[in-house]
Amino acid sequence: MVASGSDLLDDRDEAVFEDGAATAETDGLAPAATKRVFIKTFGCQMNVYDSERMSEALAAQGYVPTEEVAEADLAILNTCHIREKAAEKVYSDLGRLRDLKQGRSKDGKETLIAVTGCVAQAEGREIVRRAPAVDLVVGPQSYHRLPELLARVRGGAGALVETEFPDEDKFRALPQRKPQAAASAFLTVQEGCDKFCTFCVVPYTRGMEFSRPVTALTEEARRLVDRGVREITLLGQNVNGYHGEGPDGAATSLAGLIRALAAIDGLKRIRYTTSHPRDMTDDLIAAHRDEEKLMPFLHLPFQAGADRVLAAMNRKHTADEYKALIARIREARPDIALSTDIIVGFPGETDEDFAQSIALVEEIAFAHAFSFKYSPRPGTPASTMDGQVPEEVKRERLERLQQVIERGFARFNKALVGETVPVLFEKAGRHEGQLVGRTPYWQLVHADAPASLIGEVADVVIETAKANSLSGVLAADTVARQARAVPR
Ligand code: SAM
Ligand code: SF4
Repeated sequence: MVASGSDLLDDRDEAVFEDGAATAETDGLAPAATKRVFIKTFGCQMNVYDSERMSEALAAQGYVPTEEVAEADLAILNTCHIREKAAEKVYSDLGRLRDLKQGRSKDGKETLIAVTGCVAQAEGREIVRRAPAVDLVVGPQSYHRLPELLARVRGGAGALVETEFPDEDKFRALPQRKPQAAASAFLTVQEGCDKFCTFCVVPYTRGMEFSRPVTALTEEARRLVDRGVREITLLGQNVNGYHGEGPDGAATSLAGLIRALAAIDGLKRIRYTTSHPRDMTDDLIAAHRDEEKLMPFLHLPFQAGADRVLAAMNRKHTADEYKALIARIREARPDIALSTDIIVGFPGETDEDFAQSIALVEEIAFAHAFSFKYSPRPGTPASTMDGQVPEEVKRERLERLQQVIERGFARFNKALVGETVPVLFEKAGRHEGQLVGRTPYWQLVHADAPASLIGEVADVVIETAKANSLSGVLAADTVARQARAVPR
């Protein structure tokens, strides 16, 4: 998959998760005066997870989700600040929401507008100044307080801005999870980052690194599995830096957490994202060899192929160290599919530096990669560095890089044609009788299969590889078809 976005499960360009329908459960008992909440999610999977948790917190207050913004009593933009384009989209959406709010007001209907996520954290009160229709601005560490803050707004408190990093544990304060039944779910295990790559806003918007305790996570995972989830993707800005408190009080590594989760009956697949090369420890590499439920897929951003760019980015590893790490991972799990993030046009990047990024992509033969034009972010060291690269050069480099990535992706997909692979079916496909699932290597697969296979892993013989997905037939069907073809 080639996209100007990052992390697993998306082909996003800044704001793909425009779902407006974060899940909420009301057990069919929505109060008579039902209020409707529309949530638009920008950016990474951590925001997708947060939107879901917000929706659950609001469900306890009688809010049901809607995909129709026009009927929303509360509209939330859960925002991303990682690149300028993502942040600016929020303001154009706020303009549309203002008009909607005015229109509904003429019909006697109240509409509250809230901005949450990383733009809320980074811009705070500036959002209310630029967009006075906004009632509430809430940073990523405070969204568990949404119900209380909304009550204060309704009580006449005026526009509220909540961007502190409170001491209380957000996850403990949130209601227990009741996600819609789905085969696959996210679980945030770690938040924040203190690595301070010079291009990145995360340490400023999400705060310092924090890991959730193992017991809280195994309990949340069990509840997910009880509701039909069969695959869990562990999320964190630096997920492999996870060091949550274990049941014995000692710090537990991500490998330890994966082992604890793998013991849950009914959970079939575990993934994690996003990792930093410096935190790829021996025990995590060994888990890829030993832990059957840990899928052979790893998203490991390298960002740039030239050592001088890596140093200016404060990545604290060289290209050779990255290659050596990949060799160790492949030794432990030879079939592992690798994915990465690459930034083009970082300040000072020359044509020769860029050529080294291309060379590394070709040498490693990634299965997936996400590529970005460097976007200067206010307050980050790289934004004021000398040698800012012209937009035109960045665009041209991105195009060239994406062609290489696309070729690699096509090669990787084609290699599976004719193979039988276990697919976890997640949902119905667009065509009648078709299901969609994923291979262990995270490729999308379409196959004709009965709905009873949703949530099950079944062998599929891959017949064709398309640009972004594979299609095939159930191995059981192939056997039956062959049997029918044999004259008796
Ligand atoms: N923690 C991960 C790591 O260390 O690689 C990355 C998490 S970051 C939220 C996701 C990706 O966004 C990064 O890997 C990087 O490629 C991209 N990114 C971050 N800041 C950027 C910027 N200022 N301009 C362009 N891309 C950026
Ligand atoms: Fe951002 Fe990742 Fe660097 Fe942390 S390690 S500052 S999240 S790019």
